[in-house]
This record gives sequence, structure tokens and C-alpha cells, in this order.
Amino acid sequence: MMIELTNIEDTRKPVIGQILEELERKKKEAASSGNEKLANDCWRESEAIKANVLFIKAFDKIKSKKYRGAWNDLERCEAYAASIERNSDSDFYTKSRCHFIAKQTAKWQALFPYCLFASPGFTVGHYTCSICDHKVRPRSRCSHIKGKIYNGELCLHVAHDIEFLEISIVTKPVQKYSVVHNDETLDFSLINYLSDFLDNAFENWEAHWTRKSFPIKRFSKVARNSGCPCKSGRKFKECCFNEKEISIPHVDFQFFKELSDVKAKARFPY
Ligand SMILES: [Zn+2]
Ligand SMILES: [Zn+2]
Repeated sequence: MMIELTNIEDTRKPVIGQILEELERKKKEAASSGNEKLANDCWRESEAIKANVLFIKAFDKIKSKKYRGAWNDLERCEAYAASIERNSDSDFYTKSRCHFIAKQTAKWQALFPYCLFASPGFTVGHYTCSICDHKVRPRSRCSHIKGKIYNGELCLHVAHDIEFLEISIVTKPVQKYSVVHNDETLDFSLINYLSDFLDNAFENWEAHWTRKSFPIKRFSKVARNSGCPCKSGRKFKECCFNEKEISIPHVDFQFFKELSDVKAKARFPY
């Protein structure tokens, strides 16, 4: 199936919805007539379109500085791509651009300044298999594997008798959407700087993370009580304040197209 999916305008075309509906219809028909391969093919095709649409939307939000929305879309892109990778061969994974989406999503996520997340804690009474309804216990499992597709449906473990315990603040969350920061207090300049150079979500770019040292006098505007520019997490006055120079995180962006020299120059964030 060939559809042009590059820009945000492409994602708004009615044909996308029509194709997804058609795939859903074909999938149900194949599943009910016992053609599992066709049902799974339809699932893959449809999930790949959704992943592409979502990735374009995330890029569009980055461009329009809607960071939180972009972050949430990227998390869903990550989940889509992982699920497609688990359920397809490498040829489909590459051709459907899901490999690219997974790679770029991780790179975009690394540029966001979010580092604290709320993480809810639960106890779960029991789980059931979403495919056969079997009650999953340590010694009694059905033949379905969580995260695999069967007759065009993803196998999930459905939690029952959930009891909410607590919310913790963590740095490496299971779900990345529960950001606890106020966006207005954060610095998104890296993301803005990069996205200014990009015309669409599928342009390739790389980020090379290193460190660069600068003489202390260049940090004269940094308040003693604010976070140290070396990003140690400590206060400036308790960290590098008395050093001769400070080594700060530095990122080089690499593009795979011609750039005008005017824009392409190093930026010092202090
Ligand atoms: Zn099962
Ligand atoms: Zn420091």
C-alpha cells in the first residue's frame, strides 16, 4: 500500500482513515476465517501507519513548541515501534520506517530536559490473558506470550482487583508521560535549535554527546545558588564555583544535507 506520509497535512487526509478502516475490516474477516497470517499482516500494516502518523504529529508539536504533547506522542511512538519490532521481520520493520522512528524517538527523548516523573504504585489481584481470558498464575500459563499477536490481536495481561498504593517521584519511570516539571521553568533551546534545521520528521540527524571546558569567567551570569553548569545536580557554589574552568555537556548535531553557514555555529548556553 503506497500512501504519502511525510508532513502534518498528509496525516489529515481522509484516505488515512479509510485505509485503517479497510485494514480493520480485512483483519476481522481473515481472523474469523482462520487466516491468521493475513490477520497479522493487516495488524502490522495498520500499526505501522499509526506509528508514522504519530511520529509526524510529534515532530509537528516540537516545531510548534508544544513540548509536553510532543513528549507524550514520542512515548507512544516508542511503544508502537517496539510492538511492531516484536511482531515483524526486519524487512518490514525497516521498510515501514518503524526502525527509523524508534531510533529517532530515542534521540529526541534524550534532548528533552525532563528528569523527574511521578510513578504510581499498585498491587494487582491477578492478571488474565487478553486472548483467551485464562487467569495467569506462576504455575498456570496459557500458550500466549504477552506482547505477541494472535489472529491480528495483541496479547496483553489484563490486571484485576487493582489497589492503589502510592505515588513516588522517580528518574527512570515505566511510563514517561507522568512528567512532574512545569515546562515554563525548563530550557528547551536544544530542541528548538535542532528543529529549526529540519523540514520534516523523516530527515535524518545525529547527536554526538561530549563535554567541553570553558574558563570560569564565562559563567559570571550564573547565580551561586543555581544548579552547577557541569550538571552534577549540585549547587554552583558547592561544585565548580572555585574552579578555573568548567566542563559542561556539549552536543554536536550532524545533518545529512547542506546547511547555510549563517545558522550553523556553536552556541554557549550561559
Ligand atoms: Zn491466553
Ligand atoms: Zn560543577
